[in-house]
Amino acid sequence: MNIYFLGTGTSQGIPIIGSSHPVCKSIDPKDKRLRVSLWMSWNNHSYVIDCGPDFRQQMLAADCQKVDGILFTHEHSDHTAGLDDIRPFNFKQGEMPIYAHQRVIENLKKRFDYVFETENRYPGAPSVKTIEVINDHPFELGGKTVIPINVMHGNLQVFGYRIENFAYLTDVKTVAQEEIDKLKNLEVLVLNALRIEPHTTHFNLQEALSFIALVQPKKVYLTHISHLLGFHEEVQQQLPENVFLAYDNLAITL
Ligand SMILES: [Zn+2]
Repeated sequence: MNIYFLGTGTSQGIPIIGSSHPVCKSIDPKDKRLRVSLWMSWNNHSYVIDCGPDFRQQMLAADCQKVDGILFTHEHSDHTAGLDDIRPFNFKQGEMPIYAHQRVIENLKKRFDYVFETENRYPGAPSVKTIEVINDHPFELGGKTVIPINVMHGNLQVFGYRIENFAYLTDVKTVAQEEIDKLKNLEVLVLNALRIEPHTTHFNLQEALSFIALVQPKKVYLTHISHLLGFHEEVQQQLPENVFLAYDNLAITL
């Protein structure tokens, strides 16, 4: 399986518009982070997790030729606002399958009403086929089994996804024990770590490291990073040897 980090930044991205924070001014490309998203491909299959406001730019940067489906974690804009830009894939491939919690599907219907319009549809409008993701109901994706991981982002439910020995968890603040039990024997875990200071709805670095100690994956890539975490190079040096800060356009193979 090939994993490509399309974006590794928190909701505003880095740099933040108008910011003079040193991390926003950094010239290190690893300090430039688009909104969080991941591309997974194997054999002839290609799937993306989340579709934020930088989706178009990310698809161009990764030279992604086709997407067989989009898995949504939750409805927040930094994870969904790029939905209109699936149209080039619609024109080539037809309807885009989208996998999400029913609540997220309902939210997308409100925010992108024209996508779901059945009468008088604008001919060039994006088109989707919705597939409901239900906790404790693994589903099939390109010949592999996906296990939904139910986590909490403050008071909001969010889905993480496990595929074989790989798992992707973002926007996590708390995880119930029965969900932690679904994360045994991971080769690679992608996990959110926002910043040094605590936050009400995201793991800070310390909480992420404590969670890693609990789950014990072989390797971890941290994502959904704020400028307040610090410079990529400096933070990386302080991390345990199996924990890495992800960065935009990082590709790994499992
Ligand atoms: Zn987010």
